[in-house]
Amino acid sequence: MTLTESKPKTAPTAPAFPPGQLFIGGAWREASDGGRMDVIAPATGTKLTDVAKATTADVDAAVAAARAAFDSGVWSGLSSRERARILQRAYVLMRERTEQIAQAESANVGKPITFARVVDVNNAAELYEYYASLGHHLDGSVRETTGNTHAYVKTEPLGVVAAITPFNFPLILSSTKIAPALLAGNTIVHKPAGDTPLSALLIAQILQEAGVPDGVFNVVTGSGATLGDHLVGHPDVDKVAFTGSTEIGAHAAQLAGKTLKSFTAELGGNAANILFADADLNTAIHTVIGAFVFNTGQFCMAGPRLLVERPIYEVVLGILADALPHVPFGDITNPETVIGPLASSTQLEKVAAIVERAKAAGARVVTGGEKVDLNGGFYYSPTVLADLPADAEAIVEETFGPVLTVQPFDTEEEAIRLANSTRYGLASGIQTADLAKAHRVAAQLDAGITWVNGWALLDPAVPFGGVKDSGWGREGGPEAMASYQRSHSIVFNLEQSAAQ
Ligand code: NAP
Repeated sequence: MTLTESKPKTAPTAPAFPPGQLFIGGAWREASDGGRMDVIAPATGTKLTDVAKATTADVDAAVAAARAAFDSGVWSGLSSRERARILQRAYVLMRERTEQIAQAESANVGKPITFARVVDVNNAAELYEYYASLGHHLDGSVRETTGNTHAYVKTEPLGVVAAITPFNFPLILSSTKIAPALLAGNTIVHKPAGDTPLSALLIAQILQEAGVPDGVFNVVTGSGATLGDHLVGHPDVDKVAFTGSTEIGAHAAQLAGKTLKSFTAELGGNAANILFADADLNTAIHTVIGAFVFNTGQFCMAGPRLLVERPIYEVVLGILADALPHVPFGDITNPETVIGPLASSTQLEKVAAIVERAKAAGARVVTGGEKVDLNGGFYYSPTVLADLPADAEAIVEETFGPVLTVQPFDTEEEAIRLANSTRYGLASGIQTADLAKAHRVAAQLDAGITWVNGWALLDPAVPFGGVKDSGWGREGGPEAMASYQRSHSIVFNLEQSAAQ
């Protein structure tokens, strides 16, 4: 092991909120059968704390609380400005609690602490601030009609939203749904990922303190296998906002379709990062490395497929082989650490198995390619694989770990063809000094977002989402509001009104 590794000096600590409790109807309560489940610290493989393991009866209670709160008008009856003020208070509280939330997110997901502070808490807080700002500008519209009528279009909330999120960015992805859904006037039942539920409970505390009325926001922690179908199919849920794998998303979409629920699907990704020979290599290499080690590769919009223009192909492989062992790796409590563990032993085994199959398929392991035995944590070395056939599993499927495949290309057309040659279409990137080329290529990529001369340039104002098997719908930006609102057209017959 030659990586610049650092060993943990202190054990991860659990956050301070009632352990083993669900948040339903504004109150903390145990699961109906008293069940709990362990939360594991990925950095050590040991138990961090436990949370309630909700039952389907608890889902019923949470949906009933959300339904009652919605129907009472306690939230939807407020003006969007009043709701915005409460979201703004949530932003301030989240900022004030940055350290508490970052520590919890870091310990639960295995994120390096600096990353948790700067990326997770910062971005999540800004979502409440951004949607609060939109709340001062939500408008309907008046339509010009051909008849003697007066027509206007109002926007209305959908009702009860089931917000289901994956393990990799719990705080951000929960907030990505919660902030616009609440601004629109909906009520929410949130089911975070079974492995990473802690920040959802911290959000519940913050929203309650910010002034969100009881029943408007509810959290059920537990297993998706037990709760997922029940929540998605629940007759009192009006909308399902799902982020997770393509397979479970497709299953949930079918179930939601049976009861004609509104559904948004933010699913898997497998982005290509196209590196042209004219790019500034010093900057581009930083971007290439960041794009695949960001969040230890557990990023739906990661850049795990590097396409390199042939004249610099071997040069780039050489630079990566030299650079990656020096990327700070290991102790997530060390502010310098860039790469932490994977979030679970399941994730570690999945990544290791894909790399072993890639080796068997003839991959050249440029660097990495092994588990790292460090303090019992779920560590895998940052790995670069070259010389794989274009249809190899490691290239066409989502690895969701710190693994980069590298393929050469000769022409712009070939780069575009290779970039689009997976079933996914979430993100993409282009590294080049030729901006005309960047515009030309970007327009031909199957993706909801394309970054030029950078990666993961995320902002609450900029929408993202998928095409192909990466899903449908958009999150972020004003576009996300459309997922949580419906229009209601109101048309007056002016002739009849005049006659009366
Ligand atoms: P996952 O296994 O699909 O789980 C996502 C969520 O669905 C979890 O809360 C899970 O609960 C729940 N779930 C499980 N079975 C369900 C069912 N039958 N009905 C409804 N919900 C159910 O995904 P993951 O492994 O946590 O996350 C990784 C995946 O998410 C990757 O494919 C990644 O690309 C994708 N992702 C996409 C985006 C995006 O914006 N497009 C963002 C982040 C991640 P349990 O955890 O309890 O099983």
